[in-house]
Amino acid sequence: ETIGQNLERTVAAHAGRPALVERATGRRWTYAELNRDVDALARGLLAAGVAQGDRVGIWSPNCAEWVLLQYATAKVGAILVNVNPAYRVHELEYALNQSGVRLLVSATSFKTSDYRGMVDQVRPDCPALERVVFVGADSWDELVAGGAETPAEALRERMAQLSPDDPINIQYTSGTTGFPKGATLSHHNILNNGFFVAELQRWTHEDRVCLPVPFYHCFGMVMGNLGATSHGACVVIPAPVFEPAETLRAVHDERCTVLYGVPTMFIAELNHPDFDSFDLSSLRTGVMAGSPCPQEVMKQVIERMGMREVTICYGMTETSPVSVQTRVDDAFDRRVATVGRAHPHVEIKVVDPATGLTVPRGTPGELCTRGYSVMLGYWEQPDKTAEAIDSARWMHTGDLAVMDDDGYVTITGRIKDMVIRGGENIYPREIEEFLYSHPDVLDAQVVGVPDPKYGEELMAWVRMRPGAEPLTAESLREFCRGRLAHYKVPRYVHVVDEFPMTVTGKIRKVEMRERAVQILG
Ligand code: ATP
Ligand code: MG
Repeated sequence: ETIGQNLERTVAAHAGRPALVERATGRRWTYAELNRDVDALARGLLAAGVAQGDRVGIWSPNCAEWVLLQYATAKVGAILVNVNPAYRVHELEYALNQSGVRLLVSATSFKTSDYRGMVDQVRPDCPALERVVFVGADSWDELVAGGAETPAEALRERMAQLSPDDPINIQYTSGTTGFPKGATLSHHNILNNGFFVAELQRWTHEDRVCLPVPFYHCFGMVMGNLGATSHGACVVIPAPVFEPAETLRAVHDERCTVLYGVPTMFIAELNHPDFDSFDLSSLRTGVMAGSPCPQEVMKQVIERMGMREVTICYGMTETSPVSVQTRVDDAFDRRVATVGRAHPHVEIKVVDPATGLTVPRGTPGELCTRGYSVMLGYWEQPDKTAEAIDSARWMHTGDLAVMDDDGYVTITGRIKDMVIRGGENIYPREIEEFLYSHPDVLDAQVVGVPDPKYGEELMAWVRMRPGAEPLTAESLREFCRGRLAHYKVPRYVHVVDEFPMTVTGKIRKVEMRERAVQILG
């Protein structure tokens, strides 16, 4: 089944039910209305000469048109290229040229981002780019109107030519560890993954899904949008970009049953001064994912937000994305402390990165994934693809994990983030979890910094609770005494208001390490 066929099956079953709500404008779509607008746009794309396999870019914060374009490109078999709305001209130009975007759909502007101005700036340097359409501008209406004469039959014919294994999407990775890479994904990859992520949260067509996570990333477009449309559930867009109060208000007003977020988003919501004024009693389930999910935050999400059936997902863009997820009926400890077990139809193993051999259960190693969800490859980067996917089709994640006897996985960190101090392997994740137990600490991150004596030393970056005394190296040592092995006690403490982040809400440890070196002079 292709994504277009799957959508039409849902439309046939749930035509009159709510499909999409855009809070910023108050616009609403039922499934029948959504499909009507998707088809009109898809016919516009056909009339504009968009061929199967052509790249169509989208550069915008979350909005309804993003969703319409996601399904319209899937119906005409174009490859949607997700461009990060936080990119600036240099990165935009790279993404457009690297993937060869012919038609770009762009936001006009949002807050301080003048998207139209930036597009104008790069256009002369993007030879493949033939047409730019701005959301909410005349050019969007012209694109749709252009399809008015295209018979519905032409769209049917195009859809019939598509195969579920065709590439349908290029998603650039978050760029947490370096330059983003364009993961190329098929209908089959992402449709199935979205379906199973939702299935493991037991979604039905009654669910109302609040999505503050970006659509440009798989968290929004696959786990959110495809999860919802494959189940007939309704997507609620709380705001164009994440805002804690708007997210809580959307849950309250729309009686959402599902909420998604990376840990930093849930932390911002739980600590919002108006938290108690919102009625969140409709919430049941959701996903926390994207980076390590602190147990304390998971507990609060369950207890204070009422998300009794919240799940944790582990995954990466290259695997559509999810390969491991907790189940709603897992024991409480496993639901808050592990990322769960392998997804249906996905194989996982933990190997010694040096030898490639599978390690015994309980031993840390690199997590590898195999199955339907592994990407087709990095777009036009066969050497990078070969580094990541081995000849037996195992995707090497670059993440360190431990699998227990029952198959539950704990992520201990990224290989690149592991700190080796005086010969001891230190997993920053463990120390971060410990720092959360400090009553004055709001959020904590630990990185390694070069040290002449030990090779590396630890630096803790901490955000303090409002009104708390800033933590110092001395007060931290005092707090750790007798509770943490001496070599795991961070030597340096750096108090900040915010961590350096990607737009997906991930903490950029690369940047923290660079800045740490400067701070230590
Ligand atoms: P890049 O590959 O460009 O450096 P990235 O790896 O952050 O960026 P994504 O594909 O968005 O790009 O993120 C996947 C990564 O996020 C995983 O490899 C893992 O390190 C981390 N991650 C995802 N979910 C979890 C989780 N539940 N717990 C811990 N880490 C997670
Ligand atoms: Mg990655």
